[in-house]
Amino acid sequence: MQINEFIGNDIVTGQIEAAMADGTVPHAVIIDGAKGTGKAALAKILASYCICTGDKRPCGCCPGCIKASHNSHPDIFTTDGNDPGGLSIEVIRNIRRDAFIMPNEAPSKCFLLLNCDKMLAPAQNAFLKILEEPPAGVMFVMTVSSANMLLQTVRSRSRIYSLLPPEPEQTAGFLSQKMPELSYEDILHTATICSGNIGKTIEMLRSGGEEAARLADDIFAAIASGKEYDLLVQTQRVSSGRPFAAAVLDIMTENAAQCLRASAGLPTDSENAELIASKVSRGRVLMLAENISRAREILQTNVNLNFFSTWLSSVLKL
Ligand SMILES: [Zn+2]
Repeated sequence: MQINEFIGNDIVTGQIEAAMADGTVPHAVIIDGAKGTGKAALAKILASYCICTGDKRPCGCCPGCIKASHNSHPDIFTTDGNDPGGLSIEVIRNIRRDAFIMPNEAPSKCFLLLNCDKMLAPAQNAFLKILEEPPAGVMFVMTVSSANMLLQTVRSRSRIYSLLPPEPEQTAGFLSQKMPELSYEDILHTATICSGNIGKTIEMLRSGGEEAARLADDIFAAIASGKEYDLLVQTQRVSSGRPFAAAVLDIMTENAAQCLRASAGLPTDSENAELIASKVSRGRVLMLAENISRAREILQTNVNLNFFSTWLSSVLKL
């Protein structure tokens, strides 16, 4: 990824781009921001700048940049504070020693210290020694949820870049290129719920599948139990997002097909389907299946999701 491909945070990326252009990128950088704001992605761009042998660094196409993009450059050292023993004092001492060894192949070397939130004071103090007198051509990039988690002495020797989530429209524009199978409107809806946070939006879009399957089962269990209040509670959960609601209805269509099989006396692997079929007539099961397919059509209109979920509970009652 190039700095101009980074989404949002125009002031920060502008400052970094300018520093890269005139060769004034600081030797120690702290990138802070909430989870999912792109701290690691920005840290990697800075690491690529360090090892790039192209003209306009990072060029993105020299052998160094290509290795960096595959996380296999021998002069980029990554340590993650979330790994067991990640940023312990021993690890920091090793970094201090390694920093004085010449780079393997790049003009300089870069140490990425990711997720420094749990880095204890003794480790930070050990790290401080090398920040005070860094070897030439070595760069340190730290990421942390808030720079205040780091000692003042570490902060004062580093340049701090603070990241904010991009605008939901920027996130949606970026993700609609990465996820062409989803519509821009659906992605924008999820990005808005996630306040533009790219990581959270991706997570929600991707995790939709599993969660949707669970909810579809819960809704069918509520239909089978005949408890109207339970059904209302479960169907309310589809209002969390349009792509999610669509995924739930897709799975419910499968479940309805199981009910139809059960009511025709055919074997199914769904207890809920068997129970529903034993309670009501085949005509009523057919109506249930029809109402689910109607719900899928209505969801494609601009219906308000809260009204939609309440309506859904009313048409799913046996
Ligand atoms: Zn390059």
